[in-house]
Amino acid sequence: MLPDWKVLVLNSSYEPLQFCTPRRAVVMVIMGRAEKVERDGFVVRSPSVTMRLPAVIRLMRYVRMPYRPGVAFSKKNVFKRDQYTCQYCGAGGGTLTLDHVIPRSRGGATAWENVVLACRRCNAKKGNRPLHETSLSLLRPPVRPSHLFFARTAQGAPASVQAAWSKYLEYASND
Ligand SMILES: [Zn+2]
Repeated sequence: MLPDWKVLVLNSSYEPLQFCTPRRAVVMVIMGRAEKVERDGFVVRSPSVTMRLPAVIRLMRYVRMPYRPGVAFSKKNVFKRDQYTCQYCGAGGGTLTLDHVIPRSRGGATAWENVVLACRRCNAKKGNRPLHETSLSLLRPPVRPSHLFFARTAQGAPASVQAAWSKYLEYASND
């Protein structure tokens, strides 16, 4: 009996590659082609094998993957990446807006690496200044999310498994 959700596969370099079925993950671990990186509490039992199903596995050998473009930049996707929270103070809900870390007036680009969600208070505090001239700091560096970052929510996995994936997917970028 295997669960419905998938297992995250990392390259030997720890870069996220894809999701695979639990069955395939178990086989790869038993064959010695992958190792468990993150476990969850799900125990797999068959007549011959009892093992904890990993949430994340890592390939023993590096696999070259074809180039895959990251997620397109859009206001909606920035909200998703930043999980509807201000990236300066962590506040959620209310009036969140897009903030240019380096202001546009100083040549800052409208791009994944320079745009974050900010609450009204932080936005006002920051004004039209670059970050280092303010008392604010970013909770995490803004990057372009990988295609897997958004795919993870479609897997229907429990929160503990999603949390295990997040470590590897949150800031992963394929370019
Ligand atoms: Zn804030």
